[in-house]
Formats: sequence, C-alpha cells, structure tokens
Amino acid sequence: MDKHKDKCSFCGRSGKEVSLLISGQTGYICNDCAEQAYLIVGETLKQKKKESSLGFTQKELPRPREIKSFLDEYVIGQDAAKRFLSVAVFNHYKRLLQNRQDNKKDDVEIEKSNIIMVGPTGTGKTLLAKTIARMLHVPFTIVDATVLTEAGYVGEDIESILTRLLQVSDYDVEAAERGIVFIDEIDKIARKSDNPSITRDVSGEGVQQGLLKLLEGSVVNVPPQGGRKHPEQKLIAVNTKNILFICGGAFDGIERKIAMRLNTRVVGYTAGKSTEEIDRDNLLQYVSPQDLKAFGLIPEIIGRLPVLTHLQPLDKAALRRILTEPRNSIVKQYVRLFEMDGIELSFEADALDYVVEKAIEFKLGARGLRSIVESIMMDAMFDMPSTDEKTLVVTRAYAAEKLAGAHLMTVH
Ligand code: ADP
Repeated sequence: MDKHKDKCSFCGRSGKEVSLLISGQTGYICNDCAEQAYLIVGETLKQKKKESSLGFTQKELPRPREIKSFLDEYVIGQDAAKRFLSVAVFNHYKRLLQNRQDNKKDDVEIEKSNIIMVGPTGTGKTLLAKTIARMLHVPFTIVDATVLTEAGYVGEDIESILTRLLQVSDYDVEAAERGIVFIDEIDKIARKSDNPSITRDVSGEGVQQGLLKLLEGSVVNVPPQGGRKHPEQKLIAVNTKNILFICGGAFDGIERKIAMRLNTRVVGYTAGKSTEEIDRDNLLQYVSPQDLKAFGLIPEIIGRLPVLTHLQPLDKAALRRILTEPRNSIVKQYVRLFEMDGIELSFEADALDYVVEKAIEFKLGARGLRSIVESIMMDAMFDMPSTDEKTLVVTRAYAAEKLAGAHLMTVH
C-alpha cells in the first residue's frame, strides 16, 4: 500500500494524514472513520433491538414445565416453590408481551403477581433465585433487605434496590423496567411487634412503606451510583409497574404464629379430626397471609405479594441428594478439582452418609455440607499434588479420621 497515494474512501484523507488506512477490495477506510462506523453500528443496532420489542416472542418462551425442569437440575426438592416460581416468571413474560402489543382492544390488563417465599435458612431460596436468573431473558438482581433503612438513617435507601437493577441493565432504563428483583431476608424488615408502635422503628415499618411504593408500581427516582456518597448524581426515573419482585425470608418463629392460628381454628370448629391431620413437624406448609401479618409485615405489603409459597426443611434424604445430584454438586466439584491434577477421586456411599449425619449433628444444614467435605479433603488437597498417587477413595473411616482432625467451628 502506498501510504501517500491512497485515500480513505470515506473522509478522503490520505494515508499520510491518518494513523492507519485499511484497504478493502475497491477502497480504503481510515482508523477514524472505522471508529465512527463502529459507533454508528452499535447505536443503530441498539435502537433496532429496542424497537423490535422485547427480544423474545411468545413462541420462544420457556413454558413453566421447562423452567421447572431446569430448576430441577440444580435445586433438590422444593417442588411447591419451583412450580410457583416457574409460573410467576412465565406470567411475567406474558404480561410484558401484552404491554408491548399495541393492541388497545385488549382491555384486560394482566396485573403482576409478586411472590413471597417462606422457608428456613439454607433450604435453597437464594439458590432458586440464582438458578432461575441463569435462564432469564430479562435483567435480574438479588438485593438484601437487611441493609435497607428509612431515608435519613444509616444504611441504604429503598431506591438502592433499583440501582442494582439499573446497573445489571447497563443503565438501559427500559430494560430495567421489565426486570426481576429478588429481595432476600424480607423478614428482617418486619415490625418487631404486631402492634403498630408509636416509637420510631427505623428498619421496620418505615422501610415497609417505602418498599410498598416499589411493589405497587410507581415512578421512583433512583440514584444511578446508589448510596448517598454521590449527592451530585443525577437521579434516573424508573417506573416499577412491570418489575417483578420475588421476596424470600426465613421468618424464624413464624411456626408459632401458624400453630396458634391452626389451634384457634380447631377449637372453634368441630375439633378432633383436623388436628390429627396437621403435620406438626412441618407447619410452614400451612403458612398464610395472616401469619405474615402476625409476624410483622404490614397488610399492604402482603397484599402486594399475592403469591405465597414455602420451602421445606431439608431432611436427611434431601441432604444426601444435594451432595451428589445437582449439576454442580459438591461431590462433582471436588472430583473435578482432583481431576485437574490427574487424580481420580471417588467417595464411597458410606462416606457420604457420614457427611450428611455430621451436617445434621452440627445443625449446619445444606450450608454445612461443603465445609464438612472441605475439611475432609483438606489434607489430600494439600499433599496429593506433590505425590505420585493417582487415586483416592474416600471411605467412611477416612472421612471420620480427617474430620476428627479438623476443627470445624465456624460455618457461614
Ligand atoms: P437460603 O434459603 O438461606 O437462601 P441458600 O439458597 O443460600 O439458602 O442455600 C445455601 C446453600 O445450600 C446453597 O448454595 C446450596 O449449595 C445448598 N442448598 C440449599 N438448599 C438446596 C437445595 N434444595 N438443593 C440443592 N442445594 C441446596
């Protein structure tokens, strides 16, 4: 290429005047014009994508059964919650499609059905939310309600929930406005007592009132960077009308409220039979909106979370399955770790039973499984990469010996 003779076919400048001239079959483009072209392409495609509605059509949508089978690959049990979630996500898509079709004849407006999941800690609420996020066509974020406080107090303003959603949407407000937000630990903003108190309840009712605004659907001014550290930032208006909220919480002690309600009802009715039918060991399955109210959620919030579902406590059998069955189960992860060093790792069934027994004994639930396996594998992970041994079979005796040597004090 003769740098002096050739010219950019777009701006006409010669090779001498620009840093780079790229040749095509019949012409040239300089680096500046190429950059310009790149920007134009980006902008135009973005605009087109926006115009071509949502990026998915009704036909392409995963049906609730497909969503549930996907969840089954990663989350053990919890069928009730999975079904509710699958339907809620599917309906969320349908509502978005309805809003997009400029079909004004459609006078039936589908309202959104925010969800609340009640279940003991470590039973898979967050895991469900994270798993469903992997297959979503819309922006998704998980926020923790414990950090929320009323405006003016230390902590995060309610609006910060939407900051996260904006961030994952690359500040595309329209995309954020059809996203899904998972609010974890919603029980932490419950009122401390059932009686509305006259004293200030910084993290309770005030926060619930704030949250209510989001759930109801309103235009909220969101600080794009979140927090209060950037008072100069320009607020972005976000309409929450089409944002789906999924809330989760352990609601520790709600069983007592459920039992109380069930008992009073039994007394009032023709007692006897129905008392027997109640499964006292798993009262959570009877959770109703009244119990949430008794726990300290304000009725307006409960009204805006019309889908109420529960998670089961994980029993021995479930824990055992969690060890090996999910797509990225703990056992599969360790096998892969060792495989990378050319070591074939396997666990005898008895050893896995032992891990489960210990998790139950230590009252660690599913969260404890990993720490227990980690403790058992620690020595091997330290030593084996430097030895010639190429197989390791973890037996019950091996597991017991290694765990006895470890000091499993803290678990998160
Ligand atoms: P929480 O209900 O408190 O949100 P998590 O979803 O965070 O509980 O669960 C903690 C960990 O325990 C998960 O990361 C996962 O490894 C394991 N776990 C809990 N429940 C299940 C389940 N039903 N199936 C598979 N793994 C689970």
